Amino acid sequence: MKKKIAQLFKTLKFENSFSNLNPVFYTPLLPTKLSNPYIISVSDKASSLVDLNSELFSEQDLVDLFTGNLTHPTSKPLSAVYSGHQFGHWAGQLGDGRAILLGNINSSKGSWELQLKGAGITPYSRRGDGRAVLRSSIREFLCSEAMFGLNIPTTRALCITGSKDKVYRETVETASVVTRMSPTFIRFGSFEHFYYKEDLESLKILTDYTIGNFYPELLDKENPYKAFLSEVIKRTAEMIAHWQAVGFMHGVMNTDNMSILGLTLDYGPFGFMEAFNQGHICNHSDDQGRYSFVNQPHIGQWNCRAIAQTLLPFIGTVEEVQEILAEYLPVYRSKYDELIHLKLGLETKHPEDQKLIDSLSSIMQQSNVDFTLFFRRLSELKIDDFESNNSIRDLFTDRISFDDWSVQYRRRLKLEESIDEVRKVKMNSVNPKYILRNYLLQVAIEKAQNDDFTEVNKLLKIIETPFDEQPEFESYANLPPDWASNISVSCSS
Ligand code: AMP
Ligand code: MG
Repeated sequence: MKKKIAQLFKTLKFENSFSNLNPVFYTPLLPTKLSNPYIISVSDKASSLVDLNSELFSEQDLVDLFTGNLTHPTSKPLSAVYSGHQFGHWAGQLGDGRAILLGNINSSKGSWELQLKGAGITPYSRRGDGRAVLRSSIREFLCSEAMFGLNIPTTRALCITGSKDKVYRETVETASVVTRMSPTFIRFGSFEHFYYKEDLESLKILTDYTIGNFYPELLDKENPYKAFLSEVIKRTAEMIAHWQAVGFMHGVMNTDNMSILGLTLDYGPFGFMEAFNQGHICNHSDDQGRYSFVNQPHIGQWNCRAIAQTLLPFIGTVEEVQEILAEYLPVYRSKYDELIHLKLGLETKHPEDQKLIDSLSSIMQQSNVDFTLFFRRLSELKIDDFESNNSIRDLFTDRISFDDWSVQYRRRLKLEESIDEVRKVKMNSVNPKYILRNYLLQVAIEKAQNDDFTEVNKLLKIIETPFDEQPEFESYANLPPDWASNISVSCSS
């Protein structure tokens, strides 16, 4: 294996596309080492994208590389600068306060930037310590891969390493580093940074770099800047439609956390909807509920307005920008409508469908039905067998409301001559059986804090194929236990 690693280090090659730009966009710097780092978990699926695999991580050199203790000779590490709107207010300069980009690796599966999150102080750390705690790193690592498993656009996570070095939050915790992967980590806030500094020259370089590298198909358009804004808006709207359809709540949809590629980015106090409540706020620090579940689509639009503003100098008139912005809602609605039809097992569209969808939302809210269990169990309903819906009905406190709804639903299924067995298979391929419930994460985190990483690795395996039946993990699909209602997740990470 030693030989293999030596060989790998020779063949591993970081390209440094972003660092080839002018340093107004970043600061070159080295990660800060952690004491005696060890591997906690590796995503085989993510590592295969850069021609690595989990077996290689038994070698300390690779653990050191992805903790920031060893720098590869071809890598030119840096932290990027950006600004952003936080909770609706202009926050000025932010930047990678604890993330360090190693460079990008080009493989047969594309070009992937590798970034260490929690790798030490940078010029953008402000009052932070540049570190990430084990708890929040496990959450980011697992949720990145869970979202990928759910077919939702997201940045990826290659591996997570840990150290016994102390990190001070509300309590004393230990340090951890997640290696994240994305074609780029450029955010809405990267554009806002140069727009509000009135540095239009750098803004143009950044925009051209982004289009040229990540949206090359737009270069032939009459106005690539207009096409770029339109595509960013479309991807953002579709990403949020995916979130709503699976009950995902991001928790901190500030413009500095919005990927320019429409990928889910920066996993902090996220949550998956359990007892259905439209107004649910997953981030304990979000007092006003700005980022509540029901607000997410609207906030996505607000954020698109922020990125649109920065592209105004290259697009021309406010009217033209507004015309492109107006595409957000129709794209969002149409994607959500498509996804909810799939979730309900409906193959066709009917004018009465909106009523059926709205009344479902209202009865789920009234009974605080578990979001994931409801849609998964719904596939068991048989059109002519009323007993078949008992396990679904049991999820409701107001069972009569479900009975009334199920009459409408059955009528609708009959209308398109839906076949029970065919529908069931299709519904189970879009309604996950397993999601990353907060209590599952909590159990894995507590074990990991006691140096037992088996649960983290077990969860990784489960969430990689969330639509499959995994009989050995049946209990991971259950309702959360009573103690789980006390879990609260805040920005502290
Ligand atoms: P977030 O809301 O977590 O995406 O972070 C907002 C800003 O705070 C970003 O500039 C982060 O890099 C920075 N930040 C968050 N936590 C830390 C930390 N522990 N040390 C330094 N910077 C941090
Ligand atoms: Mg962030």
